[in-house]
Amino acid sequence: MHLGYPDKGHVSTYYPDSPDITTEEIEHTADLLKEEGLMPENTRMRKTSSGDYEVLIASAVTDPTVHDTKKQSWELGGPYKGKTLRLVYGDHEKEMAKIASNLAEAKKHALNDEESKMQAEYVASFHDGSMFAHKDSQRHWIKDKGPMVECNIGFIETYRDPHGIRGEWEGFAAMINKERTKAFTKLVESAPEQTPKLPWPKDFEKDRFLAPDFTSLEVLTFAGSGIPAGINIPNYDDVRQNEGFKNVSLGNVLSAAAPKEAVPFIRDEDQDVFDACKDPAFEVQVGLHELLGHGCGKLLQETEPGKYNFDIKNPPMNPVTGEKVKTWYKPGETWGSVFGGMGPTYEECRAESVAMSLCPDYKILQIFGFGDGEEVGLICDSQCVRRRLTRLPGHQ
Ligand SMILES: [Zn+2]
Repeated sequence: MHLGYPDKGHVSTYYPDSPDITTEEIEHTADLLKEEGLMPENTRMRKTSSGDYEVLIASAVTDPTVHDTKKQSWELGGPYKGKTLRLVYGDHEKEMAKIASNLAEAKKHALNDEESKMQAEYVASFHDGSMFAHKDSQRHWIKDKGPMVECNIGFIETYRDPHGIRGEWEGFAAMINKERTKAFTKLVESAPEQTPKLPWPKDFEKDRFLAPDFTSLEVLTFAGSGIPAGINIPNYDDVRQNEGFKNVSLGNVLSAAAPKEAVPFIRDEDQDVFDACKDPAFEVQVGLHELLGHGCGKLLQETEPGKYNFDIKNPPMNPVTGEKVKTWYKPGETWGSVFGGMGPTYEECRAESVAMSLCPDYKILQIFGFGDGEEVGLICDSQCVRRRLTRLPGHQ
């Protein structure tokens, strides 16, 4: 039983009561909704007994006064001629009503204008089923920099929809870890020294490193099918490119694993050292992944017709082929639009590779308080490692 398209023999709750819905039908209707400007994150899809299609939109009311699209139903063409596609509001009705009314309560306790507007947009989004309102909520969320208590909520990640466009509900509340955030801030400040260590020429880097906002949090509660160790949202590409995004490391996620859980690829005699080092090592890894990984790099692009953000007469050298680059992004393109469903995976690999490659760098390890590479003794057992770690600043 894998999560996947129903017609491939897999299961999905995104296509309820629709045992015979095909991948082609899901694709065709998704393409139409995209053209019509309806964002799919808060939707599910149903094929009725008459063969028509219903887009179920999560909202507290079945008849909202505002809609994200002008039209509410469409006559289909091509192989689906004679069939209709219509929007049906009120999916998860009870839950959405509770969520909206609780967020309206939360709004009363907002600490600043951005938080207040963010909560108002959340309420509008979950009450009326508006993704535009959710997008606006995120615009205020990114402007609420480094709050002591951080939260986010909505249909965010699309990993579990076989078509990769419908979101999974998630929400979290977390508190800032000031001590760790200090180390991450230092890492960002040192970015201009670190990025030249990456195995590509400086032409592939932004002229000025744009540091993403990054805080280390301790999770109080995280509702979702899995808890990530770090997040980088919102996912709305245009907001990310033009207005920004926030990075958070969820520091206590790793230590939430069951203690002494057997790790199959670690030898018994190495287990203690592994246990003692994995949290601090992971902290470095997550910081590098989120900050330098997602933060570095430049899209070589024709930014508007005839204008390039690199020297078109003398394009940068591709370090893989040793020749000058022959392709670049066209006006309006992003890696999301070019690589499609493969885009996020590619981007994660990139961020992870940057982290892997910079992890053993002593200048970086020093920022996190892990010495400068000079050996002070053999790492003999977990006690020894622990003693050493406890002597380091920032790791009481
Ligand atoms: Zn990432």
